[in-house]
Amino acid sequence: MVDSFKHKGLRNKLVEELSNKGIKDVKVLDAISKVPRHLFMDSSFIDHAYQDKAFPIGSGQTISQPFTVAYQTQLLEINKGDKILEIGTGSGYQAAVLCEMGAKVFTIERIRELYRKTSAFLPSINYFPKKMIYGDGYQGYEKEEPFDGIIVTAGASKIPEKLLLQLKIGGRMVIPVGENTQKMVLYLKKSASEFDIENFGDFQFVPMLKNKI
Ligand code: SAH
Repeated sequence: MVDSFKHKGLRNKLVEELSNKGIKDVKVLDAISKVPRHLFMDSSFIDHAYQDKAFPIGSGQTISQPFTVAYQTQLLEINKGDKILEIGTGSGYQAAVLCEMGAKVFTIERIRELYRKTSAFLPSINYFPKKMIYGDGYQGYEKEEPFDGIIVTAGASKIPEKLLLQLKIGGRMVIPVGENTQKMVLYLKKSASEFDIENFGDFQFVPMLKNKI
């Protein structure tokens, strides 16, 4: 499977759609215009790769909807060279968008099969996260703290306190919080113990679960 002019054209249309839906950050739109989303999906869904929809990726998980990826990434306000921790590697699409923006990406996945598949796949299409980790995202990744940004791509029923500890002062954490549907929540770390918290719209994610399998 290759990346053709047809795919590039479809991506440009998707970017236009995301822009119409309110995504304004040019760096985010530019990254989405470059990452070949069709390569991240099971072959049966490839024709739908550039629709603004979530799709199954195996192991009962999904590749997030492009709007959701764009929205969360926009809230992170990434600069080149920022150290970003992602919880929920899944297909690796979000991680690729972060790499495309020049972030140093650390990403954690709790399902061994997805970890295995994605950690082979991303380098094969020239995306190189700093580290892909098989583990429980509730623990974060202490070895590399503090992070400029943390992005959680599964719905958390409560805030993982360890992640807040591993955030740099001045850093941002974007996390969908709730049981059935989730509110997008942005944590801005003001000091070791103070946060500004902002709530955004409703989204739907697969659940953030404890322990690796
Ligand atoms: N960012 C992914 C979205 C995948 S869906 C993408 O772009 O494709 C969310 C992922 O979070 C799933 O793969 C799920 O297994 C994973 N997940 C859920 N709870 C987790 C946890 N505690 N630690 C790490 N990963 C977790």
